[in-house]
This record gives sequence, structure tokens and C-alpha cells, in this order.
Amino acid sequence: CAVFGVYGKGEDVARMTCFGLQALQHRGQESAGIAVGDGETIMVAKDLGLVTQVFDESTLAALEGFVAVGHVRYSTSGASASWEAAQPHISAIDDVLIALAHNGTLVNTNETRTRLIDEGVQFRSGTDSEVAAKAIGVVTRKTHHLRSGIRRAMEALEGAYAMVLASPDSLYAFRDPNGIRPLCIGKLPNDRGWVVSSETCGLDIVGAEYVRDVEPGEIVRFNDEGMHSEQGVVAGRRASCIFEYVYFARPDSVIDGMSVYQARRNMGRIIAQEAPVQADLVLGVPDSGVPPAMGYAHESGIPYADGIVKNRYVGRTFIEPTQAMRQLGIRLKLNPLPSVIAGKRLVVIDDSIVRGNTSKKLVDMLREAGATEVHLRIVSPEVLWPCFYGIDTDTRDQLIAANMTNEEMRAFIGADSLAFISLQGLRDSIQANHDGFCEACFSGEYPVAIPESTSRKSFL
Ligand code: 5GP
Ligand code: SF4
Ligand code: MG
Repeated sequence: CAVFGVYGKGEDVARMTCFGLQALQHRGQESAGIAVGDGETIMVAKDLGLVTQVFDESTLAALEGFVAVGHVRYSTSGASASWEAAQPHISAIDDVLIALAHNGTLVNTNETRTRLIDEGVQFRSGTDSEVAAKAIGVVTRKTHHLRSGIRRAMEALEGAYAMVLASPDSLYAFRDPNGIRPLCIGKLPNDRGWVVSSETCGLDIVGAEYVRDVEPGEIVRFNDEGMHSEQGVVAGRRASCIFEYVYFARPDSVIDGMSVYQARRNMGRIIAQEAPVQADLVLGVPDSGVPPAMGYAHESGIPYADGIVKNRYVGRTFIEPTQAMRQLGIRLKLNPLPSVIAGKRLVVIDDSIVRGNTSKKLVDMLREAGATEVHLRIVSPEVLWPCFYGIDTDTRDQLIAANMTNEEMRAFIGADSLAFISLQGLRDSIQANHDGFCEACFSGEYPVAIPESTSRKSFL
């Protein structure tokens, strides 16, 4: 998912949020929503679909105000494509009105949810994000302070969250104590206001200048008095998702001081050193495999070629619910160029292997198009553990690397050789301004304890 927020008197905050969400569309294509506060009340528009499908001129024109929060959703299961699950969530408890947008996954909301239901709170969806919204609303009603509501919720909720929240007259941004999902702050020129975005590419599109990232455990508020910061909960071990650099973020974003594009180039350079091979051409699997393929080509001296064309109107294939749809999805999305690759030995760079569908199909297609050898190089280590913090990497039994040796995987995929970047090599690719990454999908060391009994199902 992605979140975006704007505070700006006299600005068209709904339109800005719409642009911001379009820049962040790669983080979720299932639903889109914007909530706007005008000092008195909050209005929300949200629906299933892409940002451009949900918002047109008349919808945007109706959203008048000076504070806005927005969200695009990437759900972890096909079953949850419901309007109720679309964000921002509105919580209206007595006179406390807020809109909340959440990127991440909370691991312990069942208990909080039960307690809130006992207090008479009603829920429209089964999502963890709605629980967070209503928990903040209930505490705020009691304390009359939104910041204490947020703080108490941060103390109670565990897991990954990068959140933006609008009251009728203020914008808030806060991040879990481990800083798992990204969130950054920008400033509009000439003191016109403030912007918060999951990635810096969302700041660029509205002309905001990057100020800094929201710190782990921090609450930042933007209103008439400007920007105000306080520590909501004590920061824990820094555990920013390393996969953002590999796959999830846009290459033109900068996370914690490190360009995602440069990190991807470095990954290609490093895997060229770790797993060299004789070949005629280097290909990248679009989109996230292309910058590391450039890095590999540069390091190895083997020329880079555009040998795989991507249909830019097809979304991220990973999100399709069934195996059959996923396989069709890959065909729809990627097509090799026989005129480039026929008779050639290829090094093919991709970002990750999860279930193995993409690689298997791709290698088949490349051979059909005339490649004589296909050497697959993957710029993330073997994905051995599911992610519980907001990126769907499925249950262990579906993770191909958790169930096969690398030689078995190579044979299954049909490649001539297969290599994954080492975890140290991946770390070395990223010169961020901290060295605390979550690497749990590779190492199984989860920064936030996963309850023993928790199956993936309970996170949906
Ligand atoms: P597979 O076909 O091996 O199951 O999926 C791996 C491919 O899915 C990668 O090429 C990657 O680009 C894409 N993908 C889409 N969404 C995700 C995600 O959330 N996590 C990971 N690791 N890969 C994803
Ligand atoms: Fe990122 Fe992997 Fe950690 Fe999930 S488990 S937050 S994908 S590093
Ligand atoms: Mg891919």
C-alpha cells in the first residue's frame, strides 16, 4: 500500500493527493481513496480500482478543504477486494472525527477489536487498519487530545505501520517503532504547506522539497502552527524493509538517504562479482530487473540489451489471486524480442523468486524466442520466510526456495544456471543513513514477534 497527506491553506489538497497517489500507484492497485478536512468536517471518496478510475474532475471538485490524506491499497489476498476495506477509514465517535490511511500490517488487532466492540464500536470491515482508526478515536474521545489517542494506539498496536491521519484541521504522520515501512516529509515552496508520502517520488510530483523521513516511533503534526514533532513510542531496533530497495519502491525514490535506482545498480554490480558467467547479452526483467541488469552489464563488460518488452497496461502479476490467472498474467505482461535474443547466450536479471512462476514462464519464453543459454541471476537472496509486515510473500509451503535446493529450483525453472545475491551483497548495495534492515523474509528473524498461533489468514 501507499499513503499520502497534504496540509496547505488555499491549496487544492484533493488534487495534489490525487497526483501523489498516482505517483505511488505501483504500491497498490486494488482501491484508492482520499479524505479531506475543511476545518469543520471530513469528506471521503474511495472505491475499488486505480486512482484514475476512482477520481474524476467532479469527485475531486467536491473534496474541498485544506488537509487531505490518501491511500492506495495492495491487499494480501484476492478475497478482500471490498469497498469496506478501501481506505482512508473514517472514525466518527461522538465529536471525534478522523480519517486514517495505513501502509503495513498490524499483528495483534484481534484483542483490541474485541475490546472496542465491547465498548459499542461498530466495524465495517475486517481490516487491521479500521481497528487502528477506531482505537485512536475511542482514546481521543476520552482524553480530548488526538496526540494522546495516537500515542496510546501506538503503545497498543504491534507490527508495521506508516500512517497518515487527518482531523478536520490538522495532518498527522506516524511510524512504528522499528520503522518497517517508509514514510517521508516534504515542504511545498513559499511556505504553502506540508506533504507526507510513502516515497519521495510522491513529493516530486507535487513540487514538494524533501525534508526528512519520519523517524521510527515518531508522531509529526502539521497545522496552522507549522510542523511539530514528538516521540510517540520509544524507538526499537531499526528494521526498515530491505525489500523496498529490491522490488517495492520506485527507482526514482530515495529512502533513508539511498537512491533506490543506485541501490539496484549496485545489486547488479555485486551479483556480477559473486556469480559471473560467460554470455553474449544481459537482459533485465522489467521493471525492477532493469537497473540491476545495467549494473551487471557495466561490471561484466557484457552488453545490456532490451530483450523483453513489457505491456505497461498490465498491473503487478503477483497480486492475481489464482495460480492460473497468475500464469496467464505473466504471458500478458512480458514478451521477448526474438530479433534481439535468437542465437544468444543470455544473463537474465530479476528481482526475486517467490513461487517461481515468473522465472519458469520467462525461461520457457526466452528459449522459444531462440536463446541458446539462459543464466538467471536474482538480486535478492532466497525468500525462505513469509512477510508479516505488509508485503505478501505467501505461506512457507508456497515459497519455492523453502522447499527445494537451488539445483532443484534451477531444474524446475529450466535455466542453465541460477544464482541469488548473498545477503551481505544485498546489504552492501544499500548505503542508507542507518544499517538496521528487516531481512526476515530471507533470515526468518522477525523484528516484531509473530504470535505463535498466527497463521497468515489472521492478517487479512
Ligand atoms: P514468483 O512468480 O516467483 O512467485 O514472483 C516473483 C515476481 O513477482 C518477481 O519478479 C517480482 O517482480 C514480482 N512481485 C510482485 N509483487 C511482489 C511482492 O510483494 N514481493 C515479491 N518478492 N515479489 C513480488
Ligand atoms: Fe520487507 Fe521481507 Fe521484512 Fe517483509 S519480511 S518487511 S518484505 S524485509
Ligand atoms: Mg518482476
